[in-house]
Amino acid sequence: MTIAQQIATRFNNDGQTWTAPSDNPSNSAGEDHIQDVCLDLAEDTSHTAGADRYDFADGSSIVITSSAWDLGLPGGCFCWEGAGHDDTCDRAQN
Ligand SMILES: [Zn+2]
Repeated sequence: MTIAQQIATRFNNDGQTWTAPSDNPSNSAGEDHIQDVCLDLAEDTSHTAGADRYDFADGSSIVITSSAWDLGLPGGCFCWEGAGHDDTCDRAQN
């Protein structure tokens, strides 16, 4: 399983679950937000006006918007694995 898949599994794999019980005893809130988990584990992050992308050391990625999240596609774009490349994505033309 990739790092992104492991995170997605922890957050129900549904693109809509934002928090999960924390396994860190020093976390007083008792739960982790997916964005914080991604930030902690990401090797690289990038942002557009509408989305944040987190790239992990194994090449997997997660893209998060204000309304949903999904596994990212390879190549650094902000498209989602579940939806495929957006029509305006440079990678979709290739
Ligand atoms: Zn794309």
